[in-house]
Amino acid sequence: MAEEEKKSAWVDKGICIGCCLCASLAPGVYRMRQADGKSEVYNPDGASVAEVQNTISSCPVAAISWQDRKTDGSFAAGRISRSEITEGFTGVSRSDHERKKVEEDIAQQKEEGR
Ligand code: SF4
Repeated sequence: MAEEEKKSAWVDKGICIGCCLCASLAPGVYRMRQADGKSEVYNPDGASVAEVQNTISSCPVAAISWQDRKTDGSFAAGRISRSEITEGFTGVSRSDHERKKVEEDIAQQKEEGR
């Protein structure tokens, strides 16, 4: 089994800002949750490795990453989200920083008339 076949995309809900880009690029893998507007992986095998990698590279806040997947489809134990790690060190979630940056970028683009 190739290395890529043991991995699945995973969305860090603490970082995701619900922009829908991943679900647009790979609708066979991601869907937006009605409860909180965040993305989730509902079918890890719903797109090619290259397509999933493209969603990982395209996410504006780097909320998606590869995670090890067991042969039964479940994720490996002991996974810690990056937002949890950041909160542990600073008490401020990375998602707050990322969300603020995206909001500032959007405001700047509006000012520039883009
Ligand atoms: S591209 Fe990133 S921020 Fe946008 S919905 Fe997907 S995971 Fe969330």
